[in-house]
Amino acid sequence: MKLSHVVNKFTNIVYTYLKYSEYLKFQSKSASDIKLYQERKLKRILTIAVNKVPYYKPYKSEIDFDNFSLQELKKLPLINKDIIRQNPLDFIREDKNINNLQWKSTSGSSGKPFKVPKHYFSDAIEVILGYRAWSFGKFSYRLREPAIVIRSFSPKENEPIHKRDIIRNFWYLSPYHINDGHLPIFLKTFKKSQAKVLKGYPSSVYILTLLLKKHNIKLPQIQTIITSSETMLPKYRNEIESYWQCDVLDWYGQNERTVTVQQCSYGNYHNNDDYGICEIDTDNTIIATSLNNDIMPLLRYHTNDKAIPLHEKNITCECGRAMHIPFKGIEGRQDDILYKEGKEAIPTINFYNLMEKFQNIKQFYILQEEDLSVNMEISENQPLNDNELLQLKEGIIQRLGNVPLQINVVKEIQRNKQTDKVKIIESKVKL
Ligand SMILES: [Zn+2]
Repeated sequence: MKLSHVVNKFTNIVYTYLKYSEYLKFQSKSASDIKLYQERKLKRILTIAVNKVPYYKPYKSEIDFDNFSLQELKKLPLINKDIIRQNPLDFIREDKNINNLQWKSTSGSSGKPFKVPKHYFSDAIEVILGYRAWSFGKFSYRLREPAIVIRSFSPKENEPIHKRDIIRNFWYLSPYHINDGHLPIFLKTFKKSQAKVLKGYPSSVYILTLLLKKHNIKLPQIQTIITSSETMLPKYRNEIESYWQCDVLDWYGQNERTVTVQQCSYGNYHNNDDYGICEIDTDNTIIATSLNNDIMPLLRYHTNDKAIPLHEKNITCECGRAMHIPFKGIEGRQDDILYKEGKEAIPTINFYNLMEKFQNIKQFYILQEEDLSVNMEISENQPLNDNELLQLKEGIIQRLGNVPLQINVVKEIQRNKQTDKVKIIESKVKL
């Protein structure tokens, strides 16, 4: 590792400790103070962009820096991965030496590589916002509060199914090994860590919940559950909330580090207004602007993620935070959308509602091939009878039209080895 990168790692740790309380206080800012803060940060990034970033230079005369408001952002075009991929250097500051940069790679399901350079304190801000998100529930947490983490860890064969990150005080458990045989190791790790926070994918927390329920084991030490990176199905949430009886806070972010949004105790999704600006396009796509990345400014970046829109604008939250509430929830990524005959997109929520009716289905996975045919896998709590299977088939045909449909009952829905996640819906349909 380069010396400058080692120094960067160290300064990021120092920055985390110095800035955490300031970030915690941001939650209590008034709406007008938040607006002023965002204007100041956006103005800084736009000034850098139009002066130093080739793609944005032509917009220098368009932006009114003298009478600046957040509306100036709308003068810029939407950008996306494909536009940046065509000429990445066009999006990077000319005064930075590309060989000295550190990068954040994205693991998109499309398989095409894409990477974004990190700004100097990028890693620290991710850590800070991660901890701050835990405090959006009923309890507040300090830095290095211990947490059980059931995600981002896939041990090789013969390796232990747990590991510890001492710097962050994370106690990892493998999301691939949540089963009867490994339950004692899970329980031992919970006890030893004294963690009050549990972090995981919606699917890994759900499977753990079912396992504990089966063995009638309660773990009252957990006060806050944080989920992210997969769709939180209503079925998962109901099961998790009723068992743990604590805050279950879902988090949204992307590897490009543009916006992050998290739930509070009241279930609303608050944007981290000190981190990014979140717009929702007419087709409900999340359009994100980073307020921190001054090396590759990502301004009005089309994320490909679909939000569930709010019915009313400018809603306020009972939690008292004035941080924006940009959407009602996350529907999924573009490749999570299913299409009916004629290639009409069907909102995924339709399938989630259908699956709610089948309480004996533990998990499901729907794969739609390019020719619109559907292969579905289900795992069961209790075996489904013929009548239930027929109802399931009819429900899907009702939503997708008369497409070829195959339903297979499997013992377990497999986790994707590359991403560690469990996809619920996947589409290979090309538009
Ligand atoms: Zn709130």
